[in-house]
Amino acid sequence: MRAERAKVAKPANNLLHPVVARALDQIAISADELEPFVSGNSQASKAHALLEQQKGAWEMLRNGYDTLRTVRTRVFDFGDFHIKVQFNPGRLISTVAEVDAASIKARKCFLCIENLPPDQRGIPYDGGFLVLCNPFPIFPEHFTISSVRHTPQLIHDSFAALLNLTRDLGSRYTVLYNGPKCGASAPDHLHFQAGNRDYLPIDAEYETLTRTHARPLLEFGSFRAYGIEKYLRHTITFESSDASLLQRAFGSLYEVLHEGGPAGEEPMLNILGFYTNREWRIHAFPRAKHRPSFYFKDGDEKLLFSPAAVELGGICTTPREQDFEKVTREHIVEMFHEVSVSAERFATATTLLAPKLAALANQTRP
Ligand SMILES: [Zn+2]
Repeated sequence: MRAERAKVAKPANNLLHPVVARALDQIAISADELEPFVSGNSQASKAHALLEQQKGAWEMLRNGYDTLRTVRTRVFDFGDFHIKVQFNPGRLISTVAEVDAASIKARKCFLCIENLPPDQRGIPYDGGFLVLCNPFPIFPEHFTISSVRHTPQLIHDSFAALLNLTRDLGSRYTVLYNGPKCGASAPDHLHFQAGNRDYLPIDAEYETLTRTHARPLLEFGSFRAYGIEKYLRHTITFESSDASLLQRAFGSLYEVLHEGGPAGEEPMLNILGFYTNREWRIHAFPRAKHRPSFYFKDGDEKLLFSPAAVELGGICTTPREQDFEKVTREHIVEMFHEVSVSAERFATATTLLAPKLAALANQTRP
């Protein structure tokens, strides 16, 4: 039995502005172009094939992957889990991206189809998205899945799309979401990212974490919810094979986190999505801050780390070699402590969430 698809509004291409529709036609890779690289029929194999095609046809991407080969890694051991630090010079633009409203307004949106580089190609996905190769990779295979429309980065109405994408790419990739104020370098243009499974430490650590760091919030049928604590950062994790239940559970979490936050703003969140054996696993990391204090310091005290979903998955990237060499275990602890919600705020959120999940379970029981 196939798991159901999350219900997502599917705007038809003919509703796009004619300039955008023409640009989409040009950028959509043809079956003939993909054919030499495809080894399967899944969306994940098509994405992999796109990357292979683009490495041959798009110089900027090839350079990005050449830079990735020079990456250096340090590993910090925290007992049940570890954090990797990656020196990745290709990430400079993303790390220092100015994402305030004035800077965003002043620049040309780099995710709008009509502004994409001429050699870039993509795979239209789910009626409203385009799978694109990320020219500044962190993962050995790294994608940006952007909306075909210039529409703000908001998860409330796009969580269903995240579930579908996680399912369709899940055999090979993890799907990532960065909130508009905590890591998205295009907060004005809806997008997700995807990178290789088994690359972020959290994937391999998860089974241990459920025994050592997880507080069960609710379990019924195929649905499980945990609060994962004492992991430097906090995460609410949902597991289920039922997309509509996951959507409702996420809706409850959103409500809880939204309460007390600034009106009209999305609660700060990074999300990681995994799909295994027809089950989703969604980690939502509530955030307190975008960047740690040391990011804003001068001289020797400054460290360029700008945490987003990849970091919360356990890989902290820095584009400067001196920061890679200088960073200590204490810096890492301090960074996660500052950018994650406090233990108290997390405890309040899980306390408020548990009865809402229980109510969902009661509605769902026959
Ligand atoms: Zn745009």
